[in-house]
Amino acid sequence: MYRPNHHGYIEVIVGPMYSGKSEELIRRLKRAKIAKQNVIVFKPSIDDRYCKKNVVSHNGSKINAINISNPKDIYKYVDEKTHVVGIDEVQFFNDDIIDVIKTLADRGKRVLVAGLDMDFRGEPFGPTPKIMAIAEFVDKLSAICVKCGAPAHRTQRLINGKPAKYSDEVVLVGATESYEARCRLHHEVPR
Ligand code: ADP
Repeated sequence: MYRPNHHGYIEVIVGPMYSGKSEELIRRLKRAKIAKQNVIVFKPSIDDRYCKKNVVSHNGSKINAINISNPKDIYKYVDEKTHVVGIDEVQFFNDDIIDVIKTLADRGKRVLVAGLDMDFRGEPFGPTPKIMAIAEFVDKLSAICVKCGAPAHRTQRLINGKPAKYSDEVVLVGATESYEARCRLHHEVPR
């Protein structure tokens, strides 16, 4: 894929959980570092999945990241020497992230964004769809459906081992939650 290096642009990596978004984000950011580009990475403080200071993929690769809760905090860390800005789990930020990403690209940065395109209900997730719309490049990855081995584009949410209902709250106190990659056929969202 043609990647201009003389002006800013937005690159987005989306897909369900386990599709390799973090892995791909880390791979691209590491290659930018090899090219001696100044790279800075952010993730929402809500996502402390493995480590507060790193973006970590399910297969164990990682890169240093700064945890922030307000998208505008990114401006405090990015200066004229920054070439590449990475953002993981973008779906958890509020809509202010859209303008921050656009502004950074307008200022000449390569902005590399990864996140879930759909929530557990199979609906567009937070700011991700709008970022996809204004991006130069979008890669939609798939995982493997745990039920049939087909490409999986959806994230199955399980509560105490059973498919989460459409109306279930995003945070359920006292329940054991887990997530699986599933295809359209095997994705279950009981009403
Ligand atoms: P994401 O950021 O999209 O959640 P990661 O980059 O963290 O994905 O993890 C991708 C890795 O997850 C794969 O390389 C593979 O080792 C592992 N994995 C576990 N379950 C699955 C699955 N059902 N389909 C594909 N990969 C899976």
